[in-house]
Amino acid sequence: MTIYDLIIKNGAIVTADSIVQGDIAIKDGKIKEVSVGKPLDATADQEINADGLHILPGLIDTHVHFNEPGRTEWEGLETGSRSLAAGGVTTFFDMPLNSTPPTINKANLALKSSAADEKSIVNPRFWGGLVPENIGDLKDLHENGVIGFKAFMSPSGIADFNNVDDETIYKGMKEIASLGSLLAVHAESTVITDQLAQEKQRQGKTTARDFVESRPIISEIEAVRRVISYAEATGCKLHIVHASSRKVVRVINDAKQRGVDVTVETCPHYLSLTVKDLAEQGAIAKCAPPLRDQEEVEDLWTAVSNGEINVIASDHSPAPASMKTIKDNYFEGWGGISGAQSTLNILLTEGHYKRNLPLEKIVELTATNPAKLFGLSTKGEIAVDYDADLALVDLNESFKLKKEDLFYRHQHSPYVGMTFKGKVKTTIVGGQVVFDNGQPIEK
Ligand SMILES: [Zn+2]
Repeated sequence: MTIYDLIIKNGAIVTADSIVQGDIAIKDGKIKEVSVGKPLDATADQEINADGLHILPGLIDTHVHFNEPGRTEWEGLETGSRSLAAGGVTTFFDMPLNSTPPTINKANLALKSSAADEKSIVNPRFWGGLVPENIGDLKDLHENGVIGFKAFMSPSGIADFNNVDDETIYKGMKEIASLGSLLAVHAESTVITDQLAQEKQRQGKTTARDFVESRPIISEIEAVRRVISYAEATGCKLHIVHASSRKVVRVINDAKQRGVDVTVETCPHYLSLTVKDLAEQGAIAKCAPPLRDQEEVEDLWTAVSNGEINVIASDHSPAPASMKTIKDNYFEGWGGISGAQSTLNILLTEGHYKRNLPLEKIVELTATNPAKLFGLSTKGEIAVDYDADLALVDLNESFKLKKEDLFYRHQHSPYVGMTFKGKVKTTIVGGQVVFDNGQPIEK
């Protein structure tokens, strides 16, 4: 009889294609057997009874800002990775900015990578930055394993991470195409957002609604169209992050149909929060692009259901509470939403339960698609020889999210106070339990 390291018994195994009742056997960090319809004829050092639970491929969060090294007072890999484990996330891609130094050359990448090796309890991967100063560093970064490159078309808000001018986008995309890598873009038009913001503030118009109106959907559309034209000219793979509206997604899908290699991400906050939440919660719910109105939220869910979205990621962008205060000027107060722990909760509660989104679709958008898109050939599936990265979820358990439940360095999130249906019970990374019974397991 075969002896495995771990057997997970009798769970409902969810993949992008199906849900089946079965057992999973794990050895040396890999899934070695998936038995459906009959019990495994094997033993293991450790057994988990998953009766009544659903087993999902661990989520791959392709968009977080963990701020380490150099700004761990904002978050850090220790707190960040623990919050992911609590949310069923087993792999993250850390953005190149908000850490100091930013990930714009090989030496800076090495600093971040060694910090992650030491502190993260889930699998880390890293984005490299594309800034006007570092086109000569892209090859080095690529050869040292970055997942792709990230650029800002509007100011990033971070002094050591400059946004790209059109010349940098064009040259950068040519270089990235030659490397066979991909460029992810924060697409908002500086011309539009700067002018509108100045005009609003000159007129003393500084409410939540005014802030949102200063970053209209057209500013996303304009920037997306422009960067798509560079993708067409250079053949560079393009990934648009945090699209806030289906109107933006439509522009991307038109390009896809013309054969442009472009994909799109949206985030849980655009699927669950509106301008009203921003007005009520202040900077806790402030982000860029900003939250929209309820009809945009509903349209975006239609896009999700129709397969118009490739990836859902958190864009977890934390900051200390002291930076998150707005008195009456919404142009002040740091933007960025803390949400990495709640991605699956939002998708289950707002998607699966409220809008009949199939579980398989949630797996596709949070695990299978990200793995395929970014070339993680052993992740995103529950199948033989894939990595044993799994989330065990009780779909029937409801809970109200409390501040104290959050593992972030700063326990604030716009989702605090929401009642979620579906709770992560156990998270497994490479065959090791990293979260169980409400607590992360220390390394
Ligand atoms: Zn971001």
